[in-house]
Amino acid sequence: MRRHPMRSAITRLAAAGTAALLLLLAGCSGDSSPLARTTSKPPASAAAPAHAAPDTSCNPRASLRPAGALPAPGHMPAGSYMAKIQARGRLVLGTSQDTLLFSSRNPFTGKVEGFDVDMARQVAAAIFGDPDRIQIKVIGYDKRVSSARDGSVDIVADTMTANCARWKDVNFSSIYYEAGQRVLVSSDSKARTIQDLGGKRVCAASGSTSYDNIGAVATKPIPVAKPAFGDCLVAFQQNEVDAISTDDTILAGMAAQDPYAKVIGPKFTQEPYGMAMSQEHPEFTRFVNAVLEKNRADGTWAATYKKWLGAFGAPPAPPKAEYR
Ligand code: GLU
Repeated sequence: MRRHPMRSAITRLAAAGTAALLLLLAGCSGDSSPLARTTSKPPASAAAPAHAAPDTSCNPRASLRPAGALPAPGHMPAGSYMAKIQARGRLVLGTSQDTLLFSSRNPFTGKVEGFDVDMARQVAAAIFGDPDRIQIKVIGYDKRVSSARDGSVDIVADTMTANCARWKDVNFSSIYYEAGQRVLVSSDSKARTIQDLGGKRVCAASGSTSYDNIGAVATKPIPVAKPAFGDCLVAFQQNEVDAISTDDTILAGMAAQDPYAKVIGPKFTQEPYGMAMSQEHPEFTRFVNAVLEKNRADGTWAATYKKWLGAFGAPPAPPKAEYR
């Protein structure tokens, strides 16, 4: 078992109550801490998901082509799903609240914010002329596909990999971010890649692509499923798991919260992020793709990257749109 002062302090505190632990980690008080609220997320199904073989039957990056120029904000075409959203007065976004930098609760404002949230706010701006016309529903990773499919949210922006298995149930926008899976270990670990973690417990969120990918590593790390990645971080800090493996984006946010952790190895998967929507109104997917086209071209994407991810360097070129 790893030993260092912070972990053992944390483990002792945990015995006194998870809430206290989470408040310590978040370095703030009150119930508005991003991690504290994780505990209220409904648990994922008790059974761990099976390891799915990758489905390569499609090009998951290819979305629906925009139908032409964007309508003016506030003037959505009659009969379209965008007009329905406009009449309702708000866009409903499904996302996480514990993914630092992409969608996490700001402990000072209580608002969920990040790169993913801004992607959806830009869609709201295109519909209403006002990015604040958005309602955020916090959903578990394992509810991203079903929430988009059944219409309980209009759109999911939640570090969600566009893949062929998911395309069977939802439409994805064009790709707005290129992530890849890496591994977070204790800073004193000798491991250099996920291959070095054979027989070790490696945590990922239920319903995430990472969970399946851990199970596919030849040296056989032991995948451990938790409802959300915030729960993985707590499990790691309590020595319940040896490592966490997920997208580099999510790990960067975790490493920023734990001085005794480090991220190792190259990206060993490609995780292209798309926003998920119901297949029942494809005009909305085309509309969202037109918004992304505009924002790639006019510098909005780069400005959003700088705002949330600027600490990692200058913005790369935005992912190029592909259409079917
Ligand atoms: N991009 C992943 C997914 O859509 C989320 C992170 C992960 O898998 O660990 O499932």
